Amino acid sequence: MEFDVVIVGGSFAGLSAAMQLVRGRRRVLVVDAAKPRNRFAHASHGFLGQDGRPPAMIRQTGIDQLQRYPGFELRQDEVLSAEPLDKGFSVALASGDRVTGARLILAGGVKDSLPEVAGLTERWGQSVAHCPYCHGFEMGGGPLGILLTNKVGLHQALLLPDWGPTTLFLTEGMDLDDAERARLVNRGVAVETTAVVELVGEESALSAARLADGRLTPIVGLFVQPKTSLFGTLAGDLGLELEDGPTGAFIRVDQMAQTSRPGVFAAGDAASVMHNATLASGSGVRAASGAHFSLIHAEAEGEPRLCARA
Ligand SMILES: Cc1cc2nc3c(=O)[nH]c(=O)nc-3n(C[C@H](O)[C@H](O)[C@H](O)COP(=O)(O)OP(=O)(O)OC[C@H]3O[C@@H](n4cnc5c(N)ncnc54)[C@H](O)[C@@H]3O)c2cc1C
Repeated sequence: MEFDVVIVGGSFAGLSAAMQLVRGRRRVLVVDAAKPRNRFAHASHGFLGQDGRPPAMIRQTGIDQLQRYPGFELRQDEVLSAEPLDKGFSVALASGDRVTGARLILAGGVKDSLPEVAGLTERWGQSVAHCPYCHGFEMGGGPLGILLTNKVGLHQALLLPDWGPTTLFLTEGMDLDDAERARLVNRGVAVETTAVVELVGEESALSAARLADGRLTPIVGLFVQPKTSLFGTLAGDLGLELEDGPTGAFIRVDQMAQTSRPGVFAAGDAASVMHNATLASGSGVRAASGAHFSLIHAEAEGEPRLCARA
């Protein structure tokens, strides 16, 4: 076996998992396609000690630190499939290489599908965001908008007035009941029922939402809840149990980040209902512990160690 653990995805979750394992002198391969979800944002916020730094710089600092450890290897490549072996997994890469690992950690994140409104996609990660804790403070006190594409947005609409005066824009087919409206009114949220057709502003900045009847509602930031889908087909191919989340399915894991298939662990956005860099990093640490403990327990039961100590 070449590696104790093969980690799919080398961002907040995958690199945090790698850090624990290489410090435990295990041999770790991180395979990363290098398309982290927040690559559209110029700065990442809320990650203690890294607040305001560009996401790519945070990742590079992590890689630089990991490269000091003898057990660490990083490949920029894509995992296409993982086939269970008698012990461990054989992992096929897009480059044509094949590697083996005793355990797998899936940390490939999720993909976003954004609502179709003119001017929205090009502002994603700038003046259009998914999370007020990540980018709300930088919107300077508003006015703010939220485009309601699912009922998770209602929770966010109740949050947003803490960052600035808020308008909730309903999308086609969405409606509110009396109780929902009352809660919004109590939090000072204005509700706009005419559809947003375009976002207006200089370059990536936002100054207003244009409505279907031509009116302009001034906003400097818009929040949306994109639909999310799991990275690649690995979870399905491995027959992992999924859970339904408010924005899309995610991989079911237990307290030690173990999936429904023994030997396969999952972390980060791909295995969580809440999507945030710190949480992804923390869950990577948990998955690393889960994978490490499972190796140790197998060895304690008399299985030979599959990889030499790094
Ligand atoms: C626009 C935007 C801005 C954000 N800003 C913030 C912020 O300021 N603060 C904050 O806390 N959170 C922020 N988030 C949320 C944060 O980005 C995610 O919670 C975090 O990136 C999740 O980390 P992850 O490691 O699970 O996945 P990701 O960071 O998405 O990384 C997954 C990695 O796995 C790779 N991968 C996928 N499939 C494969 C495969 N088959 N083979 C190999 N590699 C693969 C991907 O290419 C990628 O590099 C933001 C999200 C978005 C969309």
